[in-house]
Amino acid sequence: MKNHQSLIPITVAHGDGIGPEIMRAALRMLEASGAPIAIETIEIGEKLYLSGNTSGIGSEAWESLFRTKVFLKGPITTPFGGGYKSLNVTARKTLGLFANIRPCISYSPFVFTRFPQMDVVIIRENEEDLYAGIEYRQTRQVYQTLKLVSEPGSEKIVRYAFEYARNNGRKKVTCLIKDNIMKVTDGLFHRVFDRVAAEFPEIKSDSMIIDIGTARLADSPEIFDVIVTQNLYGDIISDVAAQLSGSVGIGGSANVGDKCAMFEAIHGSAPDLAGKDLANPSGLLLSAIMMLVHINLPEPAAALHNAWLKTLEDGIHTGDIYKSGMSRIRVGTQGFADAVIERLGTIPTQGEAVTYTQQIKPIQPSSWNLKMASETKTLTGVDIFLDYPNIKPNDLGALLDSLTVQGLKLVVVSNRGVKVYPDGFADTFCTDHWRCRFEAIEKGSTIEFGKVLAQMEAFHVAGLDCIKSENLYLFDGHVGYSLAQGQ
Ligand code: NAD
Repeated sequence: MKNHQSLIPITVAHGDGIGPEIMRAALRMLEASGAPIAIETIEIGEKLYLSGNTSGIGSEAWESLFRTKVFLKGPITTPFGGGYKSLNVTARKTLGLFANIRPCISYSPFVFTRFPQMDVVIIRENEEDLYAGIEYRQTRQVYQTLKLVSEPGSEKIVRYAFEYARNNGRKKVTCLIKDNIMKVTDGLFHRVFDRVAAEFPEIKSDSMIIDIGTARLADSPEIFDVIVTQNLYGDIISDVAAQLSGSVGIGGSANVGDKCAMFEAIHGSAPDLAGKDLANPSGLLLSAIMMLVHINLPEPAAALHNAWLKTLEDGIHTGDIYKSGMSRIRVGTQGFADAVIERLGTIPTQGEAVTYTQQIKPIQPSSWNLKMASETKTLTGVDIFLDYPNIKPNDLGALLDSLTVQGLKLVVVSNRGVKVYPDGFADTFCTDHWRCRFEAIEKGSTIEFGKVLAQMEAFHVAGLDCIKSENLYLFDGHVGYSLAQGQ
């Protein structure tokens, strides 16, 4: 008899497509492991979307999630057509799930992969970067999305990656960024990485530009251990890595925040397999195992993980990983769950058994003493963006020079980031979107904000279309903005 007083409440959403069948299999395996959990089921996803709830999740579901703070989630089908918001992005942001953790491990020789040594954990920042979803159409030709990267956000994810490495016996953390191009945003992430790495001398650290890093990952994944990266890069490389490790059907993931955590398979709702008892429940099971570790239930986590490894070793495989010569019995979703349940209490005999006996120290980001910048901030200029179709750069430059207010000087005009005035190249293709940089006459000295308004007013009065402005700041004398290419 279970002691109902000590059951840990878990919120569960079965999801869409193959979701209900893989969740049924995962819950059967969880129950058989004896894990003391109490399931609260919520309805989210396609049914809600189609009933007119554009976020795909209702208030009762939120109530359960805010209370249990632990979410085991099946995959969701996002209906086609505009207006539907991504439930995953909503859940990550609302619950503050800043870290996405995806182990991508080869199970060779039991699951076919060209990379038998692969054992990588990708830790992806989950809340910032281009996923802020702040986008604008500014002119008839040019559209913009904002990439927002904060120092505390970068520090949280980098620190999480190093703590994860330390707590899980991993040896190296690699930072993947593109700071040769995005010197301000990715440059910040890189600086924070180097600063935090110095606090973990026992863990090796290195960094690579994301493009060569991805190429190396696709070619020699065994050279990586833990990877930490920003949201978009992490989104892309974690799918690449999951695919390299064998099948999307065996990838699990955790989304972790200060207070809540969400666990889900990396794959989607696979409508092509739905209702056919063909889907592999392993991705969801491995996510559920991460959940058990998170709620400090290491014994059932290890029991399930070892039974799962033994099932793979015994050649009992679902269709996605079945390979004649390697596999012995092809099973369906529930048959696979039965095989795992039968093997509870056993360990793999050819590969290494998993132990979670040592409680993984809970990572408490809220207790971290995050660096909060306190530099002196000085306004020294402004970039004013204009919508001006069909004008030559030199003609625009001359017009702007004639309209520049006292105390400011026009330093550069750029189009899509490339300097076109003064001394631009005649062949540079120009759109209707111009960045016009004005600085204090004496470079680096402070200007009043009133100057910015006066400059915009002067343009407005002259009939120019100001679409936005960005202030130019120095922080303790250091430039807080990028130069135009060619400036
Ligand atoms: P998908 O991951 O559902 O399927 C891609 C391929 O992998 C398909 O061939 C599918 O049969 C196979 N596959 C997926 N899971 C499998 C499993 N457990 N066992 C065996 N094979 C498996 O990706 P998709 O087809 O691009 O998307 C389908 C739907 O899922 C879309 O509506 C998409 O928005 C949604 N989706 C949801 C999530 C989520 O909820 N986290 C993630 C990705 C996609």
